[in-house]
Amino acid sequence: MKRIYLAVFPLLALAALGLWYFDNSNAPMGSFFTDRIGLIIAFARLAGLVGALGVMGQLLLVSRAKWLEPLYGLDRLTRFHHTAGLLIPLALLVHPPLVVWYHALQTGNSFLAQYLVVLKWDDILPAAAGELLILAAVVLSLPFTRRRLSYEAWHTAHLGAYLGLAFSLGHQFELGADLNAETPYFAWAWYALLAFTAANMLWYRLLRPLWTYRRHGFRVDRTAMESRDVMSVYVKGRGLGNFPVEPGQFALLRFWAPGLKLQAHPFSFSKAPDGAELRFSIKRSGDFTAKLHAELKPGTPVIIDGPHGVFTAARLRARKALLVAGGIGITPLRAMLESLAAARADAVLVFSNRTAGDIVFREELAGLEKGGTLRTVHVLTEDKDWTGEKGRVDAAMLNRLVPDLGERDAFLCGPPPMMAALDAGLRALGVPADRIHYERFSL
Ligand SMILES: Cc1cc2nc3c(=O)[nH]c(=O)nc-3n(C[C@H](O)[C@H](O)[C@H](O)COP(=O)(O)OP(=O)(O)OC[C@H]3O[C@@H](n4cnc5c(N)ncnc54)[C@H](O)[C@@H]3O)c2cc1C
Repeated sequence: MKRIYLAVFPLLALAALGLWYFDNSNAPMGSFFTDRIGLIIAFARLAGLVGALGVMGQLLLVSRAKWLEPLYGLDRLTRFHHTAGLLIPLALLVHPPLVVWYHALQTGNSFLAQYLVVLKWDDILPAAAGELLILAAVVLSLPFTRRRLSYEAWHTAHLGAYLGLAFSLGHQFELGADLNAETPYFAWAWYALLAFTAANMLWYRLLRPLWTYRRHGFRVDRTAMESRDVMSVYVKGRGLGNFPVEPGQFALLRFWAPGLKLQAHPFSFSKAPDGAELRFSIKRSGDFTAKLHAELKPGTPVIIDGPHGVFTAARLRARKALLVAGGIGITPLRAMLESLAAARADAVLVFSNRTAGDIVFREELAGLEKGGTLRTVHVLTEDKDWTGEKGRVDAAMLNRLVPDLGERDAFLCGPPPMMAALDAGLRALGVPADRIHYERFSL
């Protein structure tokens, strides 16, 4: 069933492209495909359509749609969105010069003179501004520029791209010759795509979280420090038994308090759901989380967009698991350990921190070990007084600590360099790629 949902957008897109072909082969003055000038306008239209289709596809990828996300996970969809986002604008870039070129050849005007004429056409200026906004978001997302921007600045540029799409709608409807063609089928397919995209964005990103809040009335119950940098936030609400969370998942939280409510940030559930409360454990790692640590008060309403993610024990293929956490990467694994303990699965957690003072959930983990099927190994990188395992966690250390590695599914969550090194190291030790699962703390 999920695969059928997934086919909807490509099928509608294919239908739209098929109708473009039909439309341009049967234009009132004959087929555009028979001469060079006709080809220019046919491909100009195609570039415009592909660009607009691509932007719609991009929006769907980040719509957090519940029918799409379980297939790939939000992080993979977001990464695909980032990669595709660097290609799609190429189509948007070539559309205007091709249109101008075609009309310049028809009228005998110079390219520049024709450009100025085209700018005066209905709905062209807003569309040009919209294209600039979309291109600005793309340029600011290039790795080189993205590294230099705060998350908020980058996010605002992305909101500008949505506005850019809205600006271009008038042009699509008014001048989009394929939409205005004699045959209405093309226009219907296009409107269906626009409506499908808009409905997904509106429901999943805006209305669903608000509806979930209305249903459960989430509020901060209390906070508790787990270490000098990590604070747990306990959230209560009505009917939490009907809020289905899989241990290992995360949600985007918007704390409805002055200075906090303008941003939604992703945090993993750090405890398996018990129907009474939810817990998130948040490390002070930047401006927003520092403010949260300093200012969050019990009673603050929380809008929860989620749960999201496919990093759950449902991915377990083998009967045994190896879990490797680096620092705050413990949160999803801490929740997952509860479901593994309940299933009496054989699991080893290797938990890396800098010092003993940085270890969170130490007693909880020891408590879970009492069930007899879980084992935790703490590894510290910078604590001279530590008598246990020391050094960086790498594949050689894992192989020594967990000799039956090849029989286990590996779940990794920690700093990106650690995960990349472990992924490569585990593969080299013969753990198949489909048995290595990871959660990245970046979207
Ligand atoms: C799936 C997932 C689960 C996570 N679980 C936890 C958790 O359980 N505990 C925890 O402490 N942290 C978790 N994080 C990381 C947490 O979201 C960031 O540390 C936090 O958003 C940083 O915000 P900041 O403004 O304080 O820091 P900044 O220094 O501004 O941001 C640091 C980095 O965090 C990311 N980030 C910042 N704001 C956002 C945002 N609004 N949305 C998405 N990413 C953002 C960006 O990559 C940014 O470069 C998780 C992240 C993801 C993606």
